[in-house]
Amino acid sequence: MSLPESAFDCAEPDRDCPLCPRLVAFRQENREAHADWFNAPVPSFGEETARLLIVGLAPGLRGANRTGRPFTGDYAGVLLYDTLLKFGFASGSYEERDDDGLTLQQTMITNAVRCVPPANKPETAEINMCRQFLRKRISLLPNLAAIVVLGRIAHVATIGAFGLKLKGFPFSHGANHPLPCGKIHLFGSYHCSRYNTNTGMLTTEMFETVFMNVRNYLDRLDERNVD
Ligand code: URA
Repeated sequence: MSLPESAFDCAEPDRDCPLCPRLVAFRQENREAHADWFNAPVPSFGEETARLLIVGLAPGLRGANRTGRPFTGDYAGVLLYDTLLKFGFASGSYEERDDDGLTLQQTMITNAVRCVPPANKPETAEINMCRQFLRKRISLLPNLAAIVVLGRIAHVATIGAFGLKLKGFPFSHGANHPLPCGKIHLFGSYHCSRYNTNTGMLTTEMFETVFMNVRNYLDRLDERNVD
C-alpha cells in the first residue's frame, strides 16, 4: 500500500495502521481470537491541555489491548492510577475498565508503541516506526511542562522524539532532565511492571517519589507565574 507521508502526520494511528507487519499480524490473530476486545492501536488518554505526559511502553495483551485505554486492565495500571489519584493527576476511581469514569487532571498517558507486541516485547524497528506518533502527540500539547518516562524504552523513544542524543540525557530512575526546548522537564522512572515491583526493583515509595517531584515542580512553576 502506498500512502502519502502526510497520512501519518497525526498523533493517533488509525485503527488499521499498516506500518509494522509483525504487529499487524498479531492484531489480526487477536481480532480473530477475541472479537470483543479492542485489538487496535491504543489511543492516548487524557487532556489536550495536559501539563504532564506519561509515556509507557506498549499495551498489555489482556489489559490496554482489551480495554482500549492505556494501562487499563494491566497489572501496571493499579500502581500507576493509584499514584496519579494520590498526587492529584487523576480523579474518580480506577476500576480496571475504560468506563469507570476516571478522569486525568492536566495529564495525558500514551505509549511509545501503540499496538500490543507479541510477548510484550516491541522490536527496535517498531519502536522507531511508532515514534512519529509520539513526536506529533508531544507537539500537540501546548501546555506541556513535564514528561514521565516509564522505563528505558519509553525514555529512548522520547529522547528520540525530541531529536536529542541519549548521551546528554541518560536514563535512570529519579532522573530529572531539563530539556533544551524550554520549560519541559523529563523525569525518569523504572516501569511499574509486575516484574519490577515483584523483584523489588521498583517499590511503591520509589514510584510515588517520582510523581511527588513532578507535582512539586509543576507547583513551583505555578508560583513563579503568580509572582
Ligand atoms: N499498559 C500500557 O498501556 N502500557 C504499558 O507500558 C504497560 C501496560
